[in-house]
Amino acid sequence: MGDDHDTSDHTYEDGDREGVENSSEEEQNSSIGLFQKYLKGRSIFKNREVLRHSYRPQILPHRKEQMDTIASILAPAIRNETPSNILIYGKTGTGKTASVRYVGAELEKACGSVGVECNVVHINCEIIDTQYRVFAQIATLLEDDEGRSSDRPRSSIPMTGWPTDQVYAELKNLIEAIGGVHIVVLDEIDKLVKKSGDETLYNLSRINSELKNAKVCIVGISNDLLFTSYLDHRVLSSLSEEEIVFPPYNAPQLVDILQQRADYAFNEGVLDENVIPLCAALAAQEHGDARRALDLLRVSGELTERKNAEIVTEKHVREARNKIEADSLIECVKTLPSQSKAVLYAMLLFPEMNKQVFTSGEVVQVYRDVALALDLDVLTHRRITDLISELDMLGVIKARLVSRGRYGRTKEMWFGAGTKKILETLQQEGRFTDERLNQIDISRFKT
Ligand code: ADP
Ligand code: MG
Repeated sequence: MGDDHDTSDHTYEDGDREGVENSSEEEQNSSIGLFQKYLKGRSIFKNREVLRHSYRPQILPHRKEQMDTIASILAPAIRNETPSNILIYGKTGTGKTASVRYVGAELEKACGSVGVECNVVHINCEIIDTQYRVFAQIATLLEDDEGRSSDRPRSSIPMTGWPTDQVYAELKNLIEAIGGVHIVVLDEIDKLVKKSGDETLYNLSRINSELKNAKVCIVGISNDLLFTSYLDHRVLSSLSEEEIVFPPYNAPQLVDILQQRADYAFNEGVLDENVIPLCAALAAQEHGDARRALDLLRVSGELTERKNAEIVTEKHVREARNKIEADSLIECVKTLPSQSKAVLYAMLLFPEMNKQVFTSGEVVQVYRDVALALDLDVLTHRRITDLISELDMLGVIKARLVSRGRYGRTKEMWFGAGTKKILETLQQEGRFTDERLNQIDISRFKT
């Protein structure tokens, strides 16, 4: 995808002229013609990698206060004492992961300089999401730490197969054998708890009472402020000895963050002066998400390069926004559970019959036929309205409550854009091309 944004209604003088030149060259030497236009001209990027999420900047503007707080809480590690556990909250893209990694690396350096054994292990619980895997991963990271001496103690936890008790005991022995302070960062901790409950946290938080020679401190990072309702109160009080909130960035702060990265990422003079402020403003609307701001800037540059234009302009930023929104909508649709997909399919039939706005009552009726055609259990009205609310929250549809006088209130909904893409995405799953779906007689639902 992506290439389909290269529609010819956006013409660039330079690009066009080059296109003409290329065609004659292509005739002469068709074997390199295909890439000719990429060989010529100045490239937009100096180093595109700098704009990726995984890149770790050396300076994090506007996070000094949060990093200072984290540092002050973890500082006892330097004296080989146990720091308090920390729970960090904030929406995506507010710099939580970057800040904690930065402080963690600094702490390891500081401890190293005074000869105190201190390890910071960073676990992404979106990927490592079971108790077994968390324990095994902590062990692996403690063993594999670069620059460690070869006589470092080792564990023998296999990737799968042991009872969890045994994994826990082995991890405990490893930590005890290494000694010192171990900071376990559980990033996206809410994902772990939602997937596997709070047992991992319960076990980790009691490990200190069983250690003599070593200490463990837990730093949990969550995008979800409400995930603590999934925790046992003892686990929660142990985990949240300290709490830190990362607020969203505002537009001027995002400008600073982008500017710093842009200096390394782009060649000089390729960014129109409005580009960074616009990326920042759009991402600030989005909930102050630095990740979104960086994506906008990177994709704007990529679209510009693909069009063979020389300057990134506001127009490219707006196109980038549309592309990112469309891509994330499609990603979101792909990962919906079956029943939500069935509800969504039912909704898609309304624009098909030229009804742009429809009500939850109508969707429920059509959904029943869809569920039957797909051999799904038919959900209750109540469950369906829950799924509709979810689709609204995810931004797949738009909805509003309207008053129907004495008939009470009802929810009206409609699609923003991209119904065709959504339908195509559903139909990539074979069952959404089932003949029985085509037989649903939508006219009988006409109101
Ligand atoms: P979170 O973990 O809160 O979702 P991240 O720490 O992953 O956010 O940040 C998302 C992206 O934005 C990363 O590429 C990160 O380097 C960048 N970023 C976030 N905050 C800053 C900042 N203050 N300065 C520079 N880059 C930042
Ligand atoms: Mg993160």
